[in-house]
Amino acid sequence: MDERLATARLTIDLGPLVRNWKRLAGFAPGAAVGAAVKADGYGLGLAQVTTALSNAGCVHFFTANAGEAVELRRNAPDAEIFVLGGLTQRNAPFYREANLTPVLNCTDDIAVWAEHCRATGLRRPCALHVDTGMNRLGLSMEEAIGFAGDEKRRHSISPSLVMSHLACADRPKAQMNALQKALFDQVRENFPGIRASLANSAAILSDPGFAYDIVRPGIALYGGEAVEDTVGPMENVAALEARILQIRVAKKGETVGYGASVTLERKTRIAICGIGYGDGLMRAASGSGVPLRRLLPGAQGHVAGRDVPVLGRISMDLTAFDVTDVQEAELAKCEWIELFGDNIALDDFARAAGTIGYEVLTAMGQRAARVWRSPADG
Ligand SMILES: *Cc1c(COP(=O)(O)O)cnc(C)c1O
Repeated sequence: MDERLATARLTIDLGPLVRNWKRLAGFAPGAAVGAAVKADGYGLGLAQVTTALSNAGCVHFFTANAGEAVELRRNAPDAEIFVLGGLTQRNAPFYREANLTPVLNCTDDIAVWAEHCRATGLRRPCALHVDTGMNRLGLSMEEAIGFAGDEKRRHSISPSLVMSHLACADRPKAQMNALQKALFDQVRENFPGIRASLANSAAILSDPGFAYDIVRPGIALYGGEAVEDTVGPMENVAALEARILQIRVAKKGETVGYGASVTLERKTRIAICGIGYGDGLMRAASGSGVPLRRLLPGAQGHVAGRDVPVLGRISMDLTAFDVTDVQEAELAKCEWIELFGDNIALDDFARAAGTIGYEVLTAMGQRAARVWRSPADG
């Protein structure tokens, strides 16, 4: 949507994105730094994100499904694109046409890919994902080792990467990290000479021993918090703002919004902004009147150098902020209130909504205008 027509805008600064990508190399010595760009580049625009990263030299990308990967291929003609899931007999030809590398997660996936390679006479590369304890996707340890030892099956496909995924990388002290790494090392011994990949953002930032050959950061690229309750070393990338539509003054004792869930304790100046859950702004971040608010305070906005609390319930298109403490003359100059960005951390907004930065970014709908600043803008 055209920014002038929108009442909410998400500004994506590609300069910090590229700097974050470069900075991660320092945490993963010897490894190639790839990028997880699933879910429309974590909601920030697949085409813009991949073009910026490709131009900076990124050559390994990870998508969730083949549809995302086919779209990505248009912007990254030479990249190695790994598709994390969803290979079927019917969609295998798309992998060939767009030169995609399927990640094989189970013995059925191996059979589908082996048959595709046999039928086309092309032994195109693939990746093997081994489950080392997460019980999500991946071959079991027994299946992986059995496959490695089965000459005939093993040579029916050409794996070029073996990978696994850590369940608790965001908690560096969790015992499970070392257990999973030990199992992963055992898998690697069975696939000598094949590249290995284990680390997401949190794993990269917490231990260089998880780096192996290719790292797969997502959230750290986009400026989110990867390691639990640690301010990451990454720069902020995305800012969400809502347009101020009206300023009103309400008397002490009056209520605001649906459910009349907040009663004003003073004469209050209220900024009504054009953003709501219809834009992906979680209703759980309301100032009051939702279950989460019995446990936590609501979200804050930021305007004219001040944090301003959300008042009452977030509705579909509108959110109210208490701007009583902002100087009237200062407020008059402002067109927008920030929800997260350079002043309010994405993850602080997420905590107020009872969730994580990943969900906040990927839940952003299409109604908010997306504005991209190019890396060259400084
Ligand atoms: C999403 C994903 C990543 C990236 O994770 P972040 O926590 O965003 O860095 C890496 N590997 C796999 C398998 C994933 O699904």
